[in-house]
Amino acid sequence: MVDLNKEVQYVKTVGPNRVKLLNKLNIYTLKDLITYFPRDYEDRSKPKNLYECVDGEDVLIEAMPTGRINELRKGKMIISRLIVKDQTGTCYITWFNQGYLKDKFQTGRMYRFFGKITKKGSRFEMNSPVYDEIDQSKNTGKIIPIYPLTYELKQSILRKIIENGLAEVKGKLPETLPEYILKENNLWDINSTIERIHFPHEFEDFNKARERLVFEELLTMQLALLKLKNNYQHDNNGIQFSKDVKMSDVINILPFKLTKAQLRVLEEIDNDMESTKPMNRLLQGDVGSGKTVIAMIAAYKAVKSGYQAAIMAPTAILAAQHLESFQGILESLGIKTELLISSITRKKKNEILEKLKNGEIDILIGTHALLEENVVFKNLGLVVTDEQHRFGVKQRGTLSAKGENPDIIAMSATPIPRTLALILYGDLDISIIDELPPNRKKIETFAVRKNMEERVNSFIKKQIDEGRQAYIVCPLVEENEEMGLKSVIELAEKYKSEIFSGYSVDYLHGKMKAKEKDEIMQKFKDGEIKILIATTVIEVGVNVPNASIMVVENAERFGLAQLHQLRGRVGRGEYQSYCILKFDGNGQTTKERMKVMCETNDGFIISEKDLELRGSGDFFGTEQHGLPEFKIANLFEDIAILKKVQKLAIKIMEDDPLLQKEKNQKLYELVKDKFGSRIEI
Ligand code: ADP
Ligand code: MG
Repeated sequence: MVDLNKEVQYVKTVGPNRVKLLNKLNIYTLKDLITYFPRDYEDRSKPKNLYECVDGEDVLIEAMPTGRINELRKGKMIISRLIVKDQTGTCYITWFNQGYLKDKFQTGRMYRFFGKITKKGSRFEMNSPVYDEIDQSKNTGKIIPIYPLTYELKQSILRKIIENGLAEVKGKLPETLPEYILKENNLWDINSTIERIHFPHEFEDFNKARERLVFEELLTMQLALLKLKNNYQHDNNGIQFSKDVKMSDVINILPFKLTKAQLRVLEEIDNDMESTKPMNRLLQGDVGSGKTVIAMIAAYKAVKSGYQAAIMAPTAILAAQHLESFQGILESLGIKTELLISSITRKKKNEILEKLKNGEIDILIGTHALLEENVVFKNLGLVVTDEQHRFGVKQRGTLSAKGENPDIIAMSATPIPRTLALILYGDLDISIIDELPPNRKKIETFAVRKNMEERVNSFIKKQIDEGRQAYIVCPLVEENEEMGLKSVIELAEKYKSEIFSGYSVDYLHGKMKAKEKDEIMQKFKDGEIKILIATTVIEVGVNVPNASIMVVENAERFGLAQLHQLRGRVGRGEYQSYCILKFDGNGQTTKERMKVMCETNDGFIISEKDLELRGSGDFFGTEQHGLPEFKIANLFEDIAILKKVQKLAIKIMEDDPLLQKEKNQKLYELVKDKFGSRIEI
């Protein structure tokens, strides 16, 4: 048996210096080393005739020197020149500071050279190629892996180290997937897979090796999520809310008629609430689809059954907005709702905490402040988190731990393609509101370039003169917050003192204190500020029905899903609303992305497109969803495997929910190995 946990320093050619460099790549053990997968490959196996070579491509040529190396000196630099010929042309090869090459090449012998070729008129040139004698294949003659992020470690050295690591395990790796799964799905065994993912003999090898690895990675995750879900479902100690409390009591006094989608979702929630199994439900719905009222009706059911409810929102403004909506309806039904945010006075806070403890408050709405230890409920039965992607799994947990197996609703407006929602939130049941309330006006969206700036500005003025308000959003590039911040402030100053000098303009960014932000937001809500310049901090669901224009600067820098979220800040009132996307650049993808935004208002279509145009890497900030990072799978490219794996995982779990059967022993190990600390298994 090979010891895969052997420290990497014991691999041949790895000395103390290289250990440090490897550690920087998170390679500590032999296993880490052989599972450090290439990000790309270079085909150095198929030589080309010179006349076929295209300017700028990386090619392998086989050619003969016409003479010896000619050395020139420029200051301290040594320049080595070699002229080589094949049957179709001549190539001028140059190396820099490689004096040792002087006598390396002999006339009359063939060599292979691999490098970038340039064509100057009829003459070919190649700088610093790698080379081999014709019968060698040290650097050429095969498909070469290219590894990601190697810091000071040269590709060729890392390649050698990995080759040495692979030599130690060759043919000895213990299989990680059960035999029956390999067979049924026509997958490669682990030994061929690991060998060929690094050194494919042909590109088809790479496909097979990668398929097997992606399959394993996705299957492991699917099984873990299903396991997690089973853990809840096998619990029968959830609260059974009263069948005698009718949701229709609230529905009948609402100022509007619920949509079919809202009614369907309420029924799902009602069923869950009346069953003994604790509810863990993700409520997904596009911005403006009406999720708040769902939370309110569920809270009504909880309260009238004798329990308290907690609603947690990511910002104080949002929490205050919810309080207003809740009180507007529920007060008349004798329900007491309070607001707990960090900016209230100590006296008020103590009063609330006291009343909460003895049950005089039925519903507590608030921010992260709800998580504090001194927030104690008498009888917490329902937990709702709004804009759930802003909270971690852990925070949801902290809040629900304040009750005994309370029911949980996590609300999210981040649209996720249906196929993926199941995967990202596999531990939750999902309800989707896929319909907007009627009579919503489409937000007219335009994508414009710099040359339209003046027209855009006069359009904004015209709207404001008619009484409306506008948002102007600029990107804050995360890697460089300083610069981003500067650009917001500079832009705000320019708008304030020049372009919109006669209007009330203010700005908002993430670095401001929460209280300051809330004050500005409140002023905008009250109409005192007409134009609000902001970073994406305004993204979260604040309702300002009078705002009818959303301008996004450098729209090309945002993801489509995010643009859609931003756009959802307007179109919340009776006025026709507009979204103006200012963009730079001529890339095909940029143009396509802008087109999608202009053509549709449907968040689900947009998220599918976003994924397609960007790949899953960007779309899923993995921490946002509390998911592990994938080592090799890409949720967009691998959607076919994903679907297959999903079916398989369900089948396996139905047959063997605890993964206890002999034939599934390996699967049990995989799940435990990857997720053990997060999932009790
Ligand atoms: P979101 O899903 O983005 O959180 P909200 O719950 O804030 O959306 O709802 C947006 C607006 O739509 C609110 O003003 C709400 O009162 C209103 N609304 C919700 N449901 C309906 C409906 N069925 N008909 C008309 N208006 C509705
Ligand atoms: Mg909302």
